[in-house]
Amino acid sequence: MLPFKLVYSDGYYLPIGAHVFPAEKYRRIHDRLIEARVAEASDFLTPEPASDQDILLVHRPQYVHKLKTGTLTAREELELEIPFSPQLVDAFWLAAGGSILAANHALKDRVAVNIGGGFHHAFPDHGEGFCMIHDVAVAIRRLQRDDKIRTAMTVDCDVHHGNGTAAIFAGVRVPSAPLPSTSAAPGASPAKMRNAHAGDVFTISLHQHNNYPLWKPPSSIDVDLPDGIGDDDYLAWLDNALSSALRQFEPDLLCYIAGADPYREDQLGGLDLTIEGLKKRDELVFRVARARDIPVMVTFAGGYAQNVEDTVTIHCNTVVAAKEVFADTMSC
Ligand SMILES: [Zn+2]
Repeated sequence: MLPFKLVYSDGYYLPIGAHVFPAEKYRRIHDRLIEARVAEASDFLTPEPASDQDILLVHRPQYVHKLKTGTLTAREELELEIPFSPQLVDAFWLAAGGSILAANHALKDRVAVNIGGGFHHAFPDHGEGFCMIHDVAVAIRRLQRDDKIRTAMTVDCDVHHGNGTAAIFAGVRVPSAPLPSTSAAPGASPAKMRNAHAGDVFTISLHQHNNYPLWKPPSSIDVDLPDGIGDDDYLAWLDNALSSALRQFEPDLLCYIAGADPYREDQLGGLDLTIEGLKKRDELVFRVARARDIPVMVTFAGGYAQNVEDTVTIHCNTVVAAKEVFADTMSC
Protein backbone atom coordinates (compact mmCIF):
# COMPACT_ATOMS: atom_id res chain seq x y z
CA MET A 1 0.00 0.00 0.00
CA LEU A 2 1.23 3.48 -0.84
CA PRO A 3 1.81 6.05 1.91
CA PHE A 4 -0.39 8.48 -0.02
CA LYS A 5 -3.50 8.50 -2.22
CA LEU A 6 -3.99 8.44 -5.97
CA VAL A 7 -7.13 10.04 -7.36
CA TYR A 8 -8.63 8.51 -10.48
CA SER A 9 -11.88 7.90 -12.32
CA ASP A 10 -12.67 6.25 -15.67
CA GLY A 11 -14.62 9.48 -16.24
CA TYR A 12 -11.31 11.32 -16.79
CA TYR A 13 -11.39 10.00 -20.35
CA LEU A 14 -11.85 12.96 -22.70
CA PRO A 15 -14.35 12.13 -25.47
CA ILE A 16 -12.41 13.86 -28.25
CA GLY A 17 -12.02 11.09 -30.86
CA ALA A 18 -8.74 10.64 -32.73
CA HIS A 19 -6.53 13.42 -31.39
CA VAL A 20 -2.90 14.10 -30.56
CA PHE A 21 -4.01 14.22 -26.91
CA PRO A 22 -4.06 10.53 -25.85
CA ALA A 23 -7.30 10.64 -23.87
CA GLU A 24 -6.94 7.00 -22.89
CA LYS A 25 -3.68 7.70 -21.04
CA TYR A 26 -5.41 8.09 -17.67
CA ARG A 27 -6.89 4.58 -17.73
CA ARG A 28 -3.61 3.16 -19.00
CA ILE A 29 -1.67 4.83 -16.18
CA HIS A 30 -4.15 3.44 -13.65
CA ASP A 31 -3.88 -0.06 -15.14
CA ARG A 32 -0.07 0.04 -15.42
CA LEU A 33 0.33 1.14 -11.80
CA ILE A 34 -1.73 -1.87 -10.69
CA GLU A 35 -0.06 -4.33 -13.09
CA ALA A 36 3.43 -3.20 -12.10
CA ARG A 37 2.41 -3.46 -8.43
CA VAL A 38 3.38 0.14 -7.81
CA ALA A 39 -0.11 0.63 -6.37
CA GLU A 40 -3.09 -1.46 -5.38
CA ALA A 41 -6.81 -0.84 -5.77
CA SER A 42 -7.12 0.53 -2.23
CA ASP A 43 -4.62 3.31 -3.00
CA PHE A 44 -7.09 4.94 -5.36
CA LEU A 45 -9.80 7.41 -4.41
CA THR A 46 -12.70 8.16 -6.75
CA PRO A 47 -13.43 11.86 -7.15
CA GLU A 48 -16.79 13.61 -7.33
CA PRO A 49 -17.22 16.38 -9.90
CA ALA A 50 -16.44 19.88 -8.68
CA SER A 51 -19.56 21.93 -7.97
CA ASP A 52 -20.41 24.89 -10.18
CA GLN A 53 -19.69 27.03 -7.13
CA ASP A 54 -16.14 25.63 -7.04
CA ILE A 55 -15.62 26.29 -10.75
CA LEU A 56 -16.89 29.86 -10.27
CA LEU A 57 -14.11 30.53 -7.75
CA VAL A 58 -11.85 30.81 -10.82
CA HIS A 59 -13.98 31.06 -13.94
CA ARG A 60 -16.30 33.85 -15.09
CA PRO A 61 -20.06 33.19 -14.82
CA GLN A 62 -20.59 33.97 -18.51
CA TYR A 63 -17.97 31.39 -19.58
CA VAL A 64 -19.37 28.75 -17.21
CA HIS A 65 -22.87 29.44 -18.55
CA LYS A 66 -21.66 28.93 -22.13
CA LEU A 67 -20.10 25.61 -21.17
CA LYS A 68 -23.20 24.41 -19.32
CA THR A 69 -25.52 25.38 -22.17
CA GLY A 70 -23.24 24.40 -25.06
CA THR A 71 -23.17 27.91 -26.47
CA LEU A 72 -19.47 28.54 -27.10
CA THR A 73 -18.89 30.43 -30.32
CA ALA A 74 -17.14 28.63 -33.19
CA ARG A 75 -14.04 30.70 -32.47
CA GLU A 76 -14.06 29.76 -28.77
CA GLU A 77 -14.36 26.07 -29.64
CA LEU A 78 -11.52 26.41 -32.14
CA GLU A 79 -9.33 27.98 -29.47
CA LEU A 80 -10.08 25.05 -27.15
CA GLU A 81 -8.62 22.75 -29.81
CA ILE A 82 -10.80 19.83 -28.71
CA PRO A 83 -14.38 19.21 -29.88
CA PHE A 84 -17.03 20.48 -27.47
CA SER A 85 -19.61 18.11 -26.02
CA PRO A 86 -21.61 17.99 -22.78
CA GLN A 87 -19.59 14.85 -21.89
CA LEU A 88 -16.39 16.86 -22.25
CA VAL A 89 -17.77 19.39 -19.75
CA ASP A 90 -18.46 16.53 -17.33
CA ALA A 91 -14.87 15.24 -17.72
CA PHE A 92 -13.41 18.66 -16.86
CA TRP A 93 -15.70 19.17 -13.86
CA LEU A 94 -14.59 15.73 -12.67
CA ALA A 95 -10.89 16.53 -13.20
CA ALA A 96 -11.35 19.67 -11.08
CA GLY A 97 -13.08 17.62 -8.38
CA GLY A 98 -10.12 15.23 -8.53
CA SER A 99 -7.64 18.02 -7.98
CA ILE A 100 -9.66 19.33 -5.02
CA LEU A 101 -9.66 15.82 -3.52
CA ALA A 102 -5.93 15.36 -4.17
CA ALA A 103 -5.11 18.75 -2.64
CA ASN A 104 -7.07 17.87 0.51
CA HIS A 105 -5.28 14.55 0.82
CA ALA A 106 -1.89 16.16 0.20
CA LEU A 107 -2.46 18.18 3.36
CA LYS A 108 -2.99 14.93 5.30
CA ASP A 109 -0.39 12.65 3.72
CA ARG A 110 2.25 15.19 2.51
CA VAL A 111 1.63 14.18 -1.10
CA ALA A 112 -1.28 13.10 -3.29
CA VAL A 113 -1.48 12.51 -7.02
CA ASN A 114 -4.40 13.26 -9.30
CA ILE A 115 -4.02 10.82 -12.23
CA GLY A 116 -5.32 13.59 -14.47
CA GLY A 117 -5.76 17.35 -14.43
CA GLY A 118 -3.05 19.96 -14.89
CA PHE A 119 -5.13 21.93 -17.40
CA HIS A 120 -2.91 24.97 -17.17
CA HIS A 121 -3.99 26.73 -20.39
CA ALA A 122 -7.52 27.47 -19.15
CA PHE A 123 -8.24 31.15 -18.38
CA PRO A 124 -11.07 32.60 -16.26
CA ASP A 125 -13.07 33.54 -19.35
CA HIS A 126 -12.01 31.01 -21.97
CA GLY A 127 -10.36 27.68 -22.59
CA GLU A 128 -7.51 26.94 -24.95
CA GLY A 129 -4.86 24.35 -25.78
CA PHE A 130 -7.00 21.29 -24.78
CA CYS A 131 -7.85 22.93 -21.42
CA MET A 132 -11.44 23.94 -20.59
CA ILE A 133 -11.26 24.36 -16.80
CA HIS A 134 -8.18 25.16 -14.68
CA ASP A 135 -8.51 22.32 -12.18
CA VAL A 136 -5.38 23.30 -10.22
CA ALA A 137 -6.55 26.88 -9.73
CA VAL A 138 -10.00 25.64 -8.71
CA ALA A 139 -8.41 23.36 -6.10
CA ILE A 140 -6.24 26.18 -4.71
CA ARG A 141 -9.16 28.62 -4.48
CA ARG A 142 -11.40 25.99 -2.87
CA LEU A 143 -8.83 25.15 -0.18
CA GLN A 144 -8.29 28.85 0.45
CA ARG A 145 -12.05 29.36 0.75
CA ASP A 146 -12.21 26.48 3.23
CA ASP A 147 -9.39 28.11 5.23
CA LYS A 148 -7.22 25.03 4.78
CA ILE A 149 -4.40 26.95 3.11
CA ARG A 150 -3.49 30.61 2.80
CA THR A 151 -0.81 30.46 0.11
CA ALA A 152 0.19 28.07 -2.65
CA MET A 153 2.97 27.62 -5.19
CA THR A 154 2.50 26.12 -8.63
CA VAL A 155 5.53 24.39 -10.15
CA ASP A 156 4.74 23.84 -13.80
CA CYS A 157 7.14 21.49 -15.59
CA ASP A 158 4.99 20.89 -18.66
CA VAL A 159 6.95 21.80 -21.82
CA HIS A 160 4.38 24.52 -22.55
CA HIS A 161 4.15 27.76 -20.60
CA GLY A 162 1.46 27.88 -17.88
CA ASN A 163 -0.30 30.87 -19.39
CA GLY A 164 -3.67 30.26 -17.71
CA THR A 165 -2.04 29.82 -14.31
CA ALA A 166 -0.04 33.03 -14.73
CA ALA A 167 -3.13 34.99 -15.78
CA ILE A 168 -5.35 33.65 -12.99
CA PHE A 169 -2.88 34.32 -10.20
CA ALA A 170 -1.35 37.50 -11.61
CA GLY A 171 -2.93 39.73 -8.95
CA VAL A 172 -0.96 42.87 -8.23
CA ARG A 173 2.63 42.53 -9.29
CA VAL A 174 5.66 44.71 -8.90
CA PRO A 175 8.88 44.14 -10.79
CA SER A 176 11.52 42.65 -8.53
CA ALA A 177 15.29 42.80 -8.62
CA PRO A 178 17.19 40.32 -10.80
CA LEU A 179 17.54 37.01 -9.05
CA PRO A 180 20.84 36.65 -7.22
CA SER A 181 20.94 33.05 -8.37
CA THR A 182 20.75 33.86 -12.08
CA SER A 183 24.52 33.97 -12.41
CA ALA A 184 24.75 30.52 -10.84
CA ALA A 185 22.66 29.00 -13.63
CA PRO A 186 24.27 26.63 -16.14
CA GLY A 187 26.95 28.49 -18.02
CA ALA A 188 26.57 28.10 -21.76
CA SER A 189 22.81 27.80 -21.84
CA PRO A 190 20.95 30.82 -23.24
CA ALA A 191 17.94 30.06 -21.05
CA LYS A 192 16.45 33.04 -19.23
CA MET A 193 14.85 33.32 -15.86
CA ARG A 194 12.36 36.15 -15.33
CA ASN A 195 10.91 37.14 -12.01
CA ALA A 196 7.83 39.06 -10.89
CA HIS A 197 6.35 39.58 -7.45
CA ALA A 198 3.64 37.13 -6.46
CA GLY A 199 0.29 37.55 -4.72
CA ASP A 200 -1.04 34.73 -2.54
CA VAL A 201 -0.09 32.16 -5.16
CA PHE A 202 3.46 32.00 -6.44
CA THR A 203 3.69 30.60 -9.97
CA ILE A 204 6.74 28.95 -11.56
CA SER A 205 6.80 27.87 -15.18
CA LEU A 206 9.72 26.01 -16.74
CA HIS A 207 8.98 25.72 -20.44
CA GLN A 208 10.35 25.70 -23.97
CA HIS A 209 10.46 29.34 -25.05
CA ASN A 210 9.83 28.66 -28.76
CA ASN A 211 6.55 26.84 -28.31
CA TYR A 212 2.85 27.38 -27.65
CA PRO A 213 1.53 29.67 -26.26
CA LEU A 214 2.86 32.58 -28.26
CA TRP A 215 1.75 35.10 -25.60
CA LYS A 216 3.16 34.13 -22.25
CA PRO A 217 1.77 36.30 -19.46
CA PRO A 218 4.34 36.60 -16.66
CA SER A 219 4.49 33.93 -13.98
CA SER A 220 6.19 34.77 -10.68
CA ILE A 221 9.18 32.96 -12.15
CA ASP A 222 9.40 32.05 -15.82
CA VAL A 223 12.29 29.96 -17.05
CA ASP A 224 12.39 30.30 -20.84
CA LEU A 225 14.33 27.26 -22.00
CA PRO A 226 15.99 27.09 -25.41
CA ASP A 227 15.15 24.29 -27.85
CA GLY A 228 16.80 20.94 -27.29
CA ILE A 229 17.85 21.38 -23.66
CA GLY A 230 18.78 18.05 -22.01
CA ASP A 231 18.48 16.45 -18.58
CA ASP A 232 21.39 18.11 -16.76
CA ASP A 233 20.68 21.70 -17.81
CA TYR A 234 16.96 21.23 -17.19
CA LEU A 235 17.51 19.88 -13.69
CA ALA A 236 19.92 22.70 -12.87
CA TRP A 237 17.37 25.31 -13.97
CA LEU A 238 14.60 23.61 -12.01
CA ASP A 239 16.76 23.45 -8.91
CA ASN A 240 17.63 27.11 -9.35
CA ALA A 241 14.01 28.18 -9.84
CA LEU A 242 12.81 26.22 -6.80
CA SER A 243 15.57 27.64 -4.58
CA SER A 244 14.86 31.19 -5.73
CA ALA A 245 11.12 30.77 -5.27
CA LEU A 246 11.39 29.30 -1.78
CA ARG A 247 13.71 32.09 -0.71
CA GLN A 248 10.96 34.55 -1.59
CA PHE A 249 7.79 32.72 -0.66
CA GLU A 250 6.46 30.20 1.87
CA PRO A 251 3.63 28.14 0.38
CA ASP A 252 1.15 26.09 2.41
CA LEU A 253 0.70 23.80 -0.60
CA LEU A 254 2.84 23.05 -3.65
CA CYS A 255 0.95 22.14 -6.83
CA TYR A 256 3.26 20.24 -9.13
CA ILE A 257 2.14 20.16 -12.78
CA ALA A 258 4.15 17.20 -14.01
CA GLY A 259 3.76 17.34 -17.79
CA ALA A 260 5.31 14.43 -19.65
CA ASP A 261 5.98 16.52 -22.75
CA PRO A 262 9.54 17.78 -22.08
CA TYR A 263 10.39 14.23 -23.27
CA ARG A 264 12.75 14.06 -26.26
CA GLU A 265 10.25 12.04 -28.34
CA ASP A 266 7.27 14.26 -27.69
CA GLN A 267 5.33 15.36 -30.77
CA LEU A 268 4.45 18.78 -29.37
CA GLY A 269 7.67 19.50 -27.49
CA GLY A 270 11.18 20.44 -28.52
CA LEU A 271 13.24 19.64 -25.43
CA ASP A 272 15.54 16.65 -25.11
CA LEU A 273 14.81 15.08 -21.73
CA THR A 274 15.06 11.31 -21.27
CA ILE A 275 12.61 9.16 -19.34
CA GLU A 276 15.27 8.86 -16.59
CA GLY A 277 15.80 12.64 -16.57
CA LEU A 278 12.07 13.21 -16.15
CA LYS A 279 12.01 10.88 -13.15
CA LYS A 280 14.92 12.83 -11.63
CA ARG A 281 12.88 15.98 -12.20
CA ASP A 282 10.00 14.48 -10.20
CA GLU A 283 12.38 13.37 -7.44
CA LEU A 284 13.88 16.84 -7.23
CA VAL A 285 10.49 18.51 -6.74
CA PHE A 286 9.46 15.92 -4.14
CA ARG A 287 12.76 16.10 -2.24
CA VAL A 288 12.64 19.89 -2.04
CA ALA A 289 9.04 19.81 -0.83
CA ARG A 290 9.72 17.07 1.69
CA ALA A 291 12.80 18.80 3.07
CA ARG A 292 10.72 21.93 3.73
CA ASP A 293 7.63 20.06 4.86
CA ILE A 294 5.44 21.49 2.11
CA PRO A 295 2.51 19.27 1.04
CA VAL A 296 2.52 18.42 -2.67
CA MET A 297 -0.47 17.91 -4.94
CA VAL A 298 0.45 16.44 -8.32
CA THR A 299 -1.40 16.71 -11.64
CA PHE A 300 -0.27 15.26 -14.96
CA ALA A 301 -0.96 17.85 -17.73
CA GLY A 302 0.38 17.09 -21.24
CA GLY A 303 2.26 14.20 -22.83
CA TYR A 304 2.28 13.45 -26.56
CA ALA A 305 5.09 10.95 -27.08
CA GLN A 306 5.21 9.17 -30.45
CA ASN A 307 4.66 6.01 -28.45
CA VAL A 308 1.81 6.48 -25.96
CA GLU A 309 3.41 3.85 -23.72
CA ASP A 310 6.32 6.25 -23.13
CA THR A 311 3.89 8.92 -21.92
CA VAL A 312 2.31 6.33 -19.62
CA THR A 313 5.75 5.31 -18.31
CA ILE A 314 6.73 8.92 -17.59
CA HIS A 315 3.50 9.56 -15.66
CA CYS A 316 3.76 6.26 -13.76
CA ASN A 317 7.34 7.15 -12.84
CA THR A 318 6.02 10.27 -11.12
CA VAL A 319 4.10 8.00 -8.75
CA VAL A 320 7.17 5.78 -8.32
CA ALA A 321 9.29 8.85 -7.52
CA ALA A 322 6.76 10.01 -4.92
CA LYS A 323 6.76 6.53 -3.41
CA GLU A 324 10.56 6.51 -3.18
CA VAL A 325 10.87 9.99 -1.71
CA PHE A 326 7.93 9.78 0.71
CA ALA A 327 8.01 6.06 1.57
CA ASP A 328 9.91 6.35 4.84
CA THR A 329 7.75 9.17 6.17
CA MET A 330 5.06 6.69 7.22
CA SER A 331 6.89 5.30 10.22
CA CYS A 332 5.52 6.62 13.47
ZN1 LIG B 1 2.10 20.67 -22.61
